[in-house]
Amino acid sequence: MPFDPGYDEDDDGGEPGQDRRFKDFDCPDCAANNPYDDGFGHGDEVRCYYCGQDYVADVSDSGRLKLKPL
Ligand SMILES: [Zn+2]
Repeated sequence: MPFDPGYDEDDDGGEPGQDRRFKDFDCPDCAANNPYDDGFGHGDEVRCYYCGQDYVADVSDSGRLKLKPL
C-alpha cells in the first residue's frame, strides 16, 4: 500500500480522494491529538492513546476523514 509522506492533513490544495493517508488524528471523544507515524487510511483501525477508544477510519471521496467508534 503506497504511502506518500508529502500528504498533509491540513493541505487545502487539491483533493487526494479516498486514497488519502493521514499521519495523525484528533480523537472525537477526548480531542487528544494522536500521531500515527506509519500513517492510516480508509478502513484502517486506529486507537486513541489517551482514552483507549478504537475507531475505524472512513475517508470520503473528497478525502475527508471521519472516525467511527468501534
Ligand atoms: Zn481519545
